[in-house]
Amino acid sequence: MDYTVVIGLEVHVQLQTQSKIFCGCSAAYNPTQPNVQTCPVCLGLPGALPVMNRQAFELALKTALALNCEIASYTKWDRKQYYYPDLPKGYQISQYDCPFSKDGWLEIEMNAETGETRRIGIIRAHLEEDAGKNMHDESGGKTDSQVDLNRAGTPLLEIVSQPDLRSAAEARRYLEELRLLLTYLNVSDCNMQEGSLRCDANVNLHIHQDGKNIPTPIVEIKNLNSFRNVELAITCEIERQFEDWKATGRRLGDVPKETRGFDAQRGVTVGQRGKEEASDYRYFPDPDLAPVTVADELIEQLRSDLCEFPADRRKRLAVTWQLSDYDVRVIVDQGREFADYFEAAAQACGDGKQACNWLTQDILRELNERRLTIAQFPIRAEVLANLLGRIPARQITNKSAREVFLELLNDGGAGPITSSRIDEIIAARGLALVADTGALEQVITAVIDKNPKAVADFRGGKQAAVGALIGQVMREAKGADAQVVRELIIKALQSG
Ligand code: ZN
Ligand code: MN
Repeated sequence: MDYTVVIGLEVHVQLQTQSKIFCGCSAAYNPTQPNVQTCPVCLGLPGALPVMNRQAFELALKTALALNCEIASYTKWDRKQYYYPDLPKGYQISQYDCPFSKDGWLEIEMNAETGETRRIGIIRAHLEEDAGKNMHDESGGKTDSQVDLNRAGTPLLEIVSQPDLRSAAEARRYLEELRLLLTYLNVSDCNMQEGSLRCDANVNLHIHQDGKNIPTPIVEIKNLNSFRNVELAITCEIERQFEDWKATGRRLGDVPKETRGFDAQRGVTVGQRGKEEASDYRYFPDPDLAPVTVADELIEQLRSDLCEFPADRRKRLAVTWQLSDYDVRVIVDQGREFADYFEAAAQACGDGKQACNWLTQDILRELNERRLTIAQFPIRAEVLANLLGRIPARQITNKSAREVFLELLNDGGAGPITSSRIDEIIAARGLALVADTGALEQVITAVIDKNPKAVADFRGGKQAAVGALIGQVMREAKGADAQVVRELIIKALQSG
């Protein structure tokens, strides 16, 4: 017996605005001073009136355009009624039957080797306000709960995918690509630890039996807060549903839709409250907010201001710099600033492959070890390019360049690192390639004289014997190019 996995993701992303969506309070993340970013509007006090934040709406439009959505020319706000202590009005302002956008898609790469891609449908994207945060402190036998409303009213974009995803790994891939796109667009910082990007997964199976597809009950796994947990939770839920099917034979419609949470420690999904049906929310249009009409000119202006998308950038970098699919994925997936850094360095030194190797190996390693972003990295692209340019120019070896690179990093804090610092390090460490082959030839002659056995071995046909001689020459003539040394030794041995 086998089955098809059916997954749709609902992603809530906090838009990067200065102020909240319906009032002037700061929307900054501030967990340490609860309830300081509040006012009568976001506290839900009687008589307070909301006013739409135009920037939030434009960021949402921009995202919907990048997701290839249709933009509605008319949209409105609805009240979604439910009671919870972190929702002081007793309702959330959201969008119900007239979302501002629908019917889009996001292309994801399914197979890194073949480059096979697939379009994942987007049912809709709508705007709403976030709720506050309840804090349940159970330490030391405490039983009280507290609420922080700093987050109440921050703008959220909800992006609902079609149930087009067919495995836990695909769901993860979709979420990663979506997050990358959102950060390239600069509409959200997408910080998952701070809750700027949250994901719910709707999962069920279509069991193949006797030529039929039997759907199992759909389960919504709530509040997945890392890529890893998205993948793990779905994997666990698939297994659980299959076991449940074998044990009970329950299918879609036999039980109400269930909401589950993910216990990452135990690696299981856990049942929560039954999901309210849409009618339980008693949606109705919010009488305090005017509907929004969206002018075609605004859409066209936003569309023309859109940045290059990650998928397009991968294609362009691969062609321009002759890089593999793997290389461009590593570069582009690090984020827009990293890709900008790469392009600046590649352009300045003229060698994309060389720049790519250094970025994806040396620089990524240093960033990880030092916990820095590329924007904080002390060596700027033009200085790196200056260093890299010295390798093909035969001023230093690749190995010496790495030594200089590490020394530049050790300078830390002594003001901006400039290319003249590279000259200083090369001079101080004697790394300059010995351009004067006369001096190098003297060293070689001395080494040959001191090693009659190796010389005899080489002349007797043992090519490998030359290695020992190269090593000795390199030790004495610091900074020499191993390739040049090799050629000169062989020449000396053959003529001697
Ligand atoms: Zn407020
Ligand atoms: Mn929502």
